Amino acid sequence: MAEGIQPIFILPEGYTRTSGKDAQRNNIAAAKAIANTVKSTLGPRGMDKMLVDNIGDITITNDGVTVLKNMEVENPAAKMIVEVAKTQEEEVGDGTTTAVIIAGELLKSAEVLLDQSIHPTLIARGYKIAANETQTILDKMSIKLDVNKKEDLAKVVKTATIGKSTGGDEHVVNLIVDSIRHVKSAVGRNESVDLDDIKIEKKVGGGLADSKLVKGVIIDKEKVHPDMPDVVKNAKIALVNMALEIEKTNVDAQIRIEKPEQLGAFLDEEEKMLKDMVKKVKESGANVLVCQKGIDDTAQHFLAKSGILAFRRVSENDIKKIGKATGAKVVSSLDELEGDALGSAGVVRVEKLAGETLAFIEECKNPKAVTILIRGGTEHVIDEVQRAIEDSLGDLRAVIEDNGAIVAGGGSCEMEVSRQLREFGKKLEGREQLAVNSFADSLEIVVKTLAENAGLDPIDILVDIRAAHQKGRVWAGVNLSDVYKPAVSDMDKEGVIEPLRTKKQAIKSASEVAIMILRIDDIIAAGKSANQPPQMPGGPGGYE
Ligand code: ADP
Ligand code: MG
Repeated sequence: MAEGIQPIFILPEGYTRTSGKDAQRNNIAAAKAIANTVKSTLGPRGMDKMLVDNIGDITITNDGVTVLKNMEVENPAAKMIVEVAKTQEEEVGDGTTTAVIIAGELLKSAEVLLDQSIHPTLIARGYKIAANETQTILDKMSIKLDVNKKEDLAKVVKTATIGKSTGGDEHVVNLIVDSIRHVKSAVGRNESVDLDDIKIEKKVGGGLADSKLVKGVIIDKEKVHPDMPDVVKNAKIALVNMALEIEKTNVDAQIRIEKPEQLGAFLDEEEKMLKDMVKKVKESGANVLVCQKGIDDTAQHFLAKSGILAFRRVSENDIKKIGKATGAKVVSSLDELEGDALGSAGVVRVEKLAGETLAFIEECKNPKAVTILIRGGTEHVIDEVQRAIEDSLGDLRAVIEDNGAIVAGGGSCEMEVSRQLREFGKKLEGREQLAVNSFADSLEIVVKTLAENAGLDPIDILVDIRAAHQKGRVWAGVNLSDVYKPAVSDMDKEGVIEPLRTKKQAIKSASEVAIMILRIDDIIAAGKSANQPPQMPGGPGGYE
């Protein structure tokens, strides 16, 4: 700057600005730090984390995205990495840790190239080429399982749950597979799965082995009248979304009652209307009534007298699920309650579990909605079991919707993609090739981390697996299911398999964020104000 010239301030007071190399290094450091926090949870021998929030609530988890969501990360680059985990969670459900550690490793490898004075845009370009190529390679190398075969689906679930607190428990694996088999529906030739059709209900108490699949729906409701039966077999179910009450008029009306008999007559009339409503329910043949709105005390009494088991103020969501499970139509007038509007269930019963009453609408013939009831010693246990179940349901949906497309796990898939990427890179010009090779190296982090978390020597394992792939063993990976088997095995034969979609998405979103972070060379940050969360103006690459 020439002497005497005043510096020009273009930013208001309180803003900080970091540019060039410093900005890049800071961002990369932050991303690496995030990847490092979740690294130790990866794979069957991964450890759990205990998260304590500001009011002292505890979460114990092995799930990458849950760790990151609870961390309240502030650094903007770190936040972008957390977003990767969230995207993965939304798109597939599983593979969140994998996505994050690949993103971290891509940036770590990029740093080495930056040190050799290779321009970040060149690295970004090479990464982009590599990322596209990985998707093609993955598609080509993927194999198929039979989506109608229970054992095949069970393998996917086992791979997804083995490192979680369920430990790949056989009973839990089976009930997850059974649940999805009920709700999948054939759409044309492709199957489709709506995970909303699987309700997850948790109740503390008992053990994991007491968890079960209910072929129907469990609702958190008590019967409305003590004289109603606790159990109704061969249930005929009426679903109504209107109130069984006398509507109060909007207009102010005065009813002048002069003689006592008149009052009696008036009340009789009200009672008769409610009685008529119950009569309609009864005449439809229903022995169970599930009502979205309220049920008047008098109506409750008559329902009980007719031997009908009734529930009121059931959520719209639950009503829909009951409809899918039992085949009942939701009616908005009791006149519509004819024979085919009713649903059926083998049994409807109320039961006290851990001090709370639940209603089970179960043993449905061909339920299109089911419920997984999770039991376990403490709330922390069942919460973690729920996360494991949700991950594996996401995996199953992906496999079913993609006609059984899978790859093998244990890092085998990443190692093969890595090998093929290097081959592909040979055709490219020097510096692009360098970036593609760095991308290929980064994918090896999965095997290294799986081995490291299992207490094996990551370098030894890596070298062995690399050699195996050179010899054409496409699915050679690190085997952690059985301590008596060799550490390097063909993972497809070991039955350690994952959906193609999970892997494609993990590598895709990891590379997208790495590229985005690489392209940033200027961080302009507003100063923190007392009551506002920190904000980033849309810098190059655009935060959030
Ligand atoms: P993510 O959040 O990425 O799903 P996980 O902790 O669930 O992380 O670990 C998934 C990784 O564990 C995958 O790479 C998968 O192939 C691997 N894995 C699962 N079961 C085994 C096994 N028996 N042997 C080796 N690796 C396994
Ligand atoms: Mg997983």
